[in-house]
Amino acid sequence: MGKSKFLRVKCKCGNEQIIFGNATSAVKCLVCNTELGRPTGSRFELHAKAVQVL
Ligand SMILES: [Zn+2]
Repeated sequence: MGKSKFLRVKCKCGNEQIIFGNATSAVKCLVCNTELGRPTGSRFELHAKAVQVL
C-alpha cells in the first residue's frame, strides 16, 4: 500500500467510509464502531474491504 493514499472501504455493516491509507492510529467505522484498520509497524493493516483507491 503506497503512502498518502485515501481508500474508500466498506465495512461489514454496509457503511462506506474514506480512510487515510497511512493512518497512524486505528480507524473505526463511524456507524458500528468496528475497527476498519490499524497501523502495524511500518504499514497500515486493513481489516475491511477496500472498494476504491482515491
Ligand atoms: Zn460498520
